[in-house]
Amino acid sequence: MVSAFQSVLTAEQIKTKAQELGVDLVGIADGSVLENNPPPEFPKKPSDITEHDGGKVIVLAKRYTSGTTRITRWDERHKYYNDELTLTMLEEASLHLVYWLEDEGYPGIIIPPTHVDPWAYRNDPDEHLTTLLSLNHAAVEAGLGTLGLNLQLLTPEFGPRVMLSAVMCTLDCDTDQPMTDALCKGPECGRCLSTCPGDVVGHWSRDWAACDKYRSPHGFAQLTDHLENIFDEPDPSEKLNLLRSENSFNLWQSILRGSGVVTGCRRCQDVCPVGEDYERMIGSTLDKIPEDTPEKAARLAAMIDAEASNDLPVEFEAQKRWIGAPKYSRGK
Ligand code: SF4
Ligand code: SF4
Repeated sequence: MVSAFQSVLTAEQIKTKAQELGVDLVGIADGSVLENNPPPEFPKKPSDITEHDGGKVIVLAKRYTSGTTRITRWDERHKYYNDELTLTMLEEASLHLVYWLEDEGYPGIIIPPTHVDPWAYRNDPDEHLTTLLSLNHAAVEAGLGTLGLNLQLLTPEFGPRVMLSAVMCTLDCDTDQPMTDALCKGPECGRCLSTCPGDVVGHWSRDWAACDKYRSPHGFAQLTDHLENIFDEPDPSEKLNLLRSENSFNLWQSILRGSGVVTGCRRCQDVCPVGEDYERMIGSTLDKIPEDTPEKAARLAAMIDAEASNDLPVEFEAQKRWIGAPKYSRGK
């Protein structure tokens, strides 16, 4: 019901506004669906954040620039910095959308892609911490795409080459439906696994803590390691060298701007063939995967064999709501 202080807003108006603010993709999920289907590994719900304004979850996606995707090194600081600018733009668009919703009479809350739950921190810098809601899972519920072999979000337009944010708001408007068929091409493709510099991709799973060392190469864990090394160094001149090292410089620059902390490795996103942008903008530079090894190829072959026998891992069963029905081979 719309009160005297509220305008009637349709889903179409909200999406048009988000696109005017520069967002590439926008979908609207029903908050109660997220409430009733918390993701298996990190089961967070809208009511963990607010009991008032989680009625709808508006998921916003901004594509990465293709020029940076064509830089093939995973540890390229210029790429981190460009991605940080994309993030800044997405965060600003989210904030402008909230102010616009509030002008129409609806309080809103942003779920940023970089803010992790501070109460979940347990004095272990190496422990994986998640966003307050899983934006990948929310994006699936909002009809933007499906999860891939390493649980990254795949969209028809840009594959996994998007950054996500969300705005929660309680209002009466239509919601989007999840896609039913998987966009992922499965282990027959496996390029996300083949390219991964940390070799952290499993069979419909990912070692998130190990991935963080690459996704956030100058983050809090690296800062504490570096400071511990400086404290523990007994030789004064070596201590000074460590203080003045490139590692210190990178950490300082990351604290200054966030590049290398909130942005980092995204090789699995870059090389994924899903997305209209792949052939059009980037595929020609990314076809080869220098990080591939015979061991990785053997693991993918074992996954293909297992799936051919309908022997899907427990991780698939846990995530199949968001993966969708695999269409790349028969029998599943
Ligand atoms: S972000 Fe990098 S380390 Fe993490 S899964 Fe993707 S390729 Fe692997
Ligand atoms: S790279 Fe291939 S296997 Fe990995 S998510 Fe994309 S389509 Fe799926």
